[in-house]
Amino acid sequence: MSVNYCTVCGQPMETRDIDGTARRACTSESCGHVHWGDYSVGVGALVMKGDRILLVRRAQEPGKGYWTNPGGYIEQLESIDQTVIREVLEESGVHASVKSIVAVRDQPRSVHNVYIAFDMEYIGGEPIPDGVEVDQAGFFTLEEMKQMKVAEFTQWLIDVALKQRAEGLTADDNPVVPGNASVFFRA
Ligand SMILES: [Zn+2]
Repeated sequence: MSVNYCTVCGQPMETRDIDGTARRACTSESCGHVHWGDYSVGVGALVMKGDRILLVRRAQEPGKGYWTNPGGYIEQLESIDQTVIREVLEESGVHASVKSIVAVRDQPRSVHNVYIAFDMEYIGGEPIPDGVEVDQAGFFTLEEMKQMKVAEFTQWLIDVALKQRAEGLTADDNPVVPGNASVFFRA
């Protein structure tokens, strides 16, 4: 699908050669916005409580009826760590904090999706489904999961959670440069 109007300033877009590739770009010189592509970013939570992991059952498509770890899509002005904390609380009523980034999935396709998985620390709260996005929530062992319809990608993430090879990327709260409203994670 061709982008006809600039999503930043509303002026018409044109096709322009940018470093050898034809791309849609804004006709307003003061704007200069280039449409690089369509992307989405998802975040997911791996919340362990002993040998159990927090799962929710999807009440909506896609994946209705499947168990997944809690998660969702990032908002425009919300940092990824804030999003994942909020999604866990909204979907399951559980309070958890971010420990580290432990996995990334890349899906280059029509809407290029990047999914970032967080290892999280359980703080408190009994799992209660939100009743909208998810209709069940709880902590489960690997043994219990054998009887459940667990989504394929979630099975991979559970493997990551249970066989963590390294600490992962943690927040750099004191970066050597200011960062200008950026959130940094590093090894
Ligand atoms: Zn523009």
